[in-house]
Amino acid sequence: MSVETIAVIGAGTMGRGIAQVSAMAGFRTWMYDVADSILEKARAEIAKNLNKGKELGKISPEAFQAAQEKLASTTDFDEAVGNCDFLIEAAPEDIKLKLEIFHRANQASRPGAILASNTSSLSVTEIAAAVADPRRVIGMHFFNPVHLMKLIEIIRGLETSAETYEATVAVARRMGRETVNVKESPGFVTSRINAMIGNEAFYLLQEGIASARDIDKALKLGLNHPMGPFEMIDLVGLDTRLSILEFLHARLGEKYRPCPLLVQYVKAGRLGKKVGKGVYEYPS
Ligand code: NAD
Repeated sequence: MSVETIAVIGAGTMGRGIAQVSAMAGFRTWMYDVADSILEKARAEIAKNLNKGKELGKISPEAFQAAQEKLASTTDFDEAVGNCDFLIEAAPEDIKLKLEIFHRANQASRPGAILASNTSSLSVTEIAAAVADPRRVIGMHFFNPVHLMKLIEIIRGLETSAETYEATVAVARRMGRETVNVKESPGFVTSRINAMIGNEAFYLLQEGIASARDIDKALKLGLNHPMGPFEMIDLVGLDTRLSILEFLHARLGEKYRPCPLLVQYVKAGRLGKKVGKGVYEYPS
């Protein structure tokens, strides 16, 4: 199927990034959110990123202009969804909310339109059950910041059709992204492996095997990781990482039990860069 119009539901951190790469790829793009003020903020952020790209010579003045013209925003759900060929939901990670959105999208969208979710952990199969034809529902897991990250994990639910999968890969490619094909499973590929690396790094620190700086240095210089596990966890947030581990522990078993030192750091309020201290300190 040919995709020309994309609706992005939720214009927060991820939604605005997805809308930006969608408009840059030449898709007519509708951004929907619950309040005008949020949409204004999203548009300003996208304009700032595009301007920066133009200044650095990465985006031509013509491409800059074209991307701006392709982007529209609305607080009217039916307006955003009614004419789209492809929907990407990026609302908060709450299953009740996502079921509600997909139920509404089932009523508002054209019968053949594809309905994708950017969920980082929820079941695509469960989300698809809110839609009369679950074959058109799929997971499309983007990474933050969307305009810089090259990968999209494509998650197939139990009933996702081959046509839906192929059309989703084609959309991702047109957005200039690489894809990996993943069967639905908690944490997909990336979150599952990343959570394990971070947890193991905390066990090393807890056991006094090496300092945090040396563990980071070892992974960067010895294993060619672009960031150390503690630098990464401070960026993601220790509370976010703990909740991912708790989720994986509940679904996949003992191997994912969060390291006690990580739990202690979260209790102490050392949540990462966002609060000025995590594994490292960030004086303002
Ligand atoms: P966010 O809180 O920054 O943005 C969510 C947006 O959804 C907000 O603007 C909010 O106003 C809007 N919203 C609230 N209720 C809504 C509704 N009923 N309909 C439509 N929009 C609604 O969250 P985020 O970080 O952008 O995450 C969005 C999704 O992307 C989540 O499922 C999350 O798990 C996933 N994700 C996040 C990241 C990340 O690094 N932040 C990475 C990959 C995937």
